[in-house]
Amino acid sequence: MTSGTLYIIATPIGNLEDITYRAVRILGEVDLVAAEDTRHSLKLLNHLTISKPLTSYFDHNQQFKGERILNALRQGKSVALISDAGTPCISDPGYQLVRDAAAEGIRVVPVPGACAAITALSGSGLPSDTFTFAGFPPSRQGKRRSFLSGLSGVPGTLVLYEAPHRLEDTLADLLEVMGDRQVVVARELTKIYEEYARGTLSEVLAALPPGRTRGEIVILVAPGQAVVDTAEPLDRVLWRLLKEEGLSVKDASRKAAELTGTARNEAYSLALQLKDSDSPP
Ligand code: SAM
Repeated sequence: MTSGTLYIIATPIGNLEDITYRAVRILGEVDLVAAEDTRHSLKLLNHLTISKPLTSYFDHNQQFKGERILNALRQGKSVALISDAGTPCISDPGYQLVRDAAAEGIRVVPVPGACAAITALSGSGLPSDTFTFAGFPPSRQGKRRSFLSGLSGVPGTLVLYEAPHRLEDTLADLLEVMGDRQVVVARELTKIYEEYARGTLSEVLAALPPGRTRGEIVILVAPGQAVVDTAEPLDRVLWRLLKEEGLSVKDASRKAAELTGTARNEAYSLALQLKDSDSPP
């Protein structure tokens, strides 16, 4: 028997008009819709006047449900995977199902559409030729800081998702770890209260309205200036900061990572080596 097709279908991130003709057609044709939250997705399907069997597929039942979905595909059924919003697999469940289906030779067809990261980037005015999407930072501060510090040297614009109640803390950690870079906070994209806050990290932090921020948020951090401007290699920058400016290993590696666009842990281990050396690189 020929197996069915697994469609990975992007749905709106707010504005219900943001769904493609193709996505609507395929949702109307498949045998089964696998959704992160069936009640949430039922509203979308009702809005589209599509009536289909729905099954849940979310983080905590991926293994068990994945097998049932694969079985349906093996039996020749076609399945659409959707998430609560945007593109499945992007900070949403799905990649294991895609991996397992592809490994069995089942046809996988992504149907592109809305994605908050790309929508935010396109409206941010920050460099978009190269960017790094890193999803949600960890919620605990220690882990978040080391996560962000590992990202401080990535090339291009850094794109993050964040929960509204952690926005202020994460912006403060970004300021601490990466210095006062340009940032854009994109909120409630495609919805009535869509807005972009633009400025340096300290400006955007200072302009946060009192009380808790609400809504859905994408944070975009501009690449460090020096990534573009400096050609000085990491070892020489570190030498200067350690030996000539007298900074500590911690401060020198943080600054050098920012100046050269290198990962902070890489700068730190090189700084440790250089600290006790007498010969400049
Ligand atoms: N798969 C989705 C996508 O393609 O964008 C992302 C799912 S992730 C669980 C949800 C996060 O995406 C939110 O917490 C927020 O950071 C971001 N997001 C989703 N919709 C958004 C919107 N309308 N405006 C701003 N950010 C949004």
